[in-house]
Amino acid sequence: MNFESLPRLQLAQLPTPLMRLGRLTRKLGGPQLWIKRDDQTGLALGGNKVRKLEFLVGAALAQGADTLVTLGAVQSNHCRQTAAAAAVAGLSCELLLNGRPPECSNGNLLLDELLGATVHWIERAQRAEKLRQLETELCRKGAKPYVIPVGGSNGLGALGYVVAMQELQAQLRAHGSRVDHLVVASSSGGTQAGMVLGARLAGFAGRVTGISIDRNDPGGFEYEDEVAQMATDCARQIGSAERLTRADVHVAYGYRGGGYGVLGELERQAIRLLAREEGIFLDPVYTGRAFGALLDLIRKGQFQRDESVLFWHTGGAPALFAQARELAVPPRGQP
Ligand SMILES: *Cc1c(COP(=O)(O)O)cnc(C)c1O
Repeated sequence: MNFESLPRLQLAQLPTPLMRLGRLTRKLGGPQLWIKRDDQTGLALGGNKVRKLEFLVGAALAQGADTLVTLGAVQSNHCRQTAAAAAVAGLSCELLLNGRPPECSNGNLLLDELLGATVHWIERAQRAEKLRQLETELCRKGAKPYVIPVGGSNGLGALGYVVAMQELQAQLRAHGSRVDHLVVASSSGGTQAGMVLGARLAGFAGRVTGISIDRNDPGGFEYEDEVAQMATDCARQIGSAERLTRADVHVAYGYRGGGYGVLGELERQAIRLLAREEGIFLDPVYTGRAFGALLDLIRKGQFQRDESVLFWHTGGAPALFAQARELAVPPRGQP
């Protein structure tokens, strides 16, 4: 593997902490729970996109770009982290966000504005077209845009998580510990793609499971194919001969609830539990759902008591503030 020759802008504070969830493990009676704190990657309230952006923004700078362009939901963590990366790199940032401006900017949107990003409101269905228009417009004005895909997910962005798996392996070695399962929220796939490739390259023997937070099981393995393709693209870019297939990509479905960004009981209970037992904040869209799924899998007996399971926290807590109403009032009969 050779990524040392690829341009990379240092944005993250690494390594992120690797911790045991001792109180929660005791409360549940096993498995042994660990957490990897990529909610603390150190840039503008952290998150998983920071690792991807080190390589994406590195490439943008190497190409002489002066503007980062990306897209996402109103409460996109990726857009907030991209806006922060642009600020650090001295670049402009243009964001295409789905929907209409809310009455009050809150959560990630507020932070996008504080970070100096320019926000364009679009209909999700017109995303591709609006992106082309914006690129053309920026070029006409003499700017040099660099477009980052949704979630920073492509072969280059995934590289951030190939490197992250080396980091994890080094931490586990130092602890003298092993991990049997790694569980992570999965949506645009770059994080899981990097982990799956990185696991192979770093000799991580545990099973990586992505919790799909926004899809129903399509049965056709489209998402698994997409993730495998991204991992293979990533391997090519670093001169590795690894080729991944859908069989290498494990995704758990069934946790989509009311849809993307819709807070339900699963998320609410997971967020409360981890906050009250461990003082750690999950987010309402990704990690609240994925940790809720992990708790469900534990209840269903998916793991042995003496196995160890690592939950990879991918960040997102700023979005909690945008869901204050849904989170603040405890349902009747709950503490
Ligand atoms: C983007 C994001 C994810 C999903 O990562 P992908 O690489 O898009 O699959 C998970 N958690 C949080 C908090 C995110 O912002």
